[in-house]
Amino acid sequence: MQIPEKLSEIIKIAKKVCVLTGAGISAESGIPTFRSGGNSFVWKGMPFEQISSAQMVRDDLDAVWEWFDYRRKIYKDCQPNAGHIALADWENRFEYFNLITQNVDGLHERAGSKNVLELHGNINHSKCERCEKVYEMSAEDVPHKPETCEICGEKVRPDVVLFGEMLPFEIFQKAENKSRDCDLFFIVGTSALVYPAAGLAEIAKYSGATLIEINPEETPVTSFCDFTLKGKAGEILPLL
Ligand code: NAD
Ligand code: ZN
Repeated sequence: MQIPEKLSEIIKIAKKVCVLTGAGISAESGIPTFRSGGNSFVWKGMPFEQISSAQMVRDDLDAVWEWFDYRRKIYKDCQPNAGHIALADWENRFEYFNLITQNVDGLHERAGSKNVLELHGNINHSKCERCEKVYEMSAEDVPHKPETCEICGEKVRPDVVLFGEMLPFEIFQKAENKSRDCDLFFIVGTSALVYPAAGLAEIAKYSGATLIEINPEETPVTSFCDFTLKGKAGEILPLL
């Protein structure tokens, strides 16, 4: 893959950079994307959308935990790839850098990124259902702990946005503001079908940013990107 010279020039002088990542950036770490099979998982007879839903937290939180403990155990053995590592490095390269992710796998953090806006939560965090205290779990905490909130005694649940739930308002607002105020906006490894996250690319573009997509496939945003780098994130991001 040859990086267009014009893009290299633009990157050299860019000060404010935003990157939005989706499941595709973790594909090379061995985590299936949603559309490549992640959504066809069936857990104890329940399809992905059912076991990962707000309704299931109300109906059977134990089953939800079993499912998330299982996934955490699998993710633990997956390592950040060259794409995650390149983005961790970009934090030191640009004057203002913001990483926004739709992923819950925690691989950006494990690669060394410090400031990640996690739109859909993090599989390694749990949250009290009443007081919303967030607990960090280590990869070894399978099954999860604590069982109940150490402050108020209420049950804790995975700190992940499930089907039927809203995105965390403050984090999304921050992501919107950063997208509105950047020179470059990269959209990496997302099918760009899921709003409102995909709308961030539009906000950036209409606010004057140069929009660059990295994806082996075409997506609904491809046609209004300034540059499309067709290929794998783990190969292209280190080149950039
Ligand atoms: P998606 O599955 O809808 O789309 C993945 C995109 O990545 C596709 O466009 C595909 O062409 C592209 N892709 C595949 N391999 C790639 C590679 N090596 N480099 C770059 N791009 C590659 O994923 P989405 O748009 O993120 O939306 C699905 C939702 O499911 C997200 O909200 C996310 O929270 C969730 N999810 C998360 C994970 C994770 O945390 N790793 C995994 C699966 C799903
Ligand atoms: Zn509590």
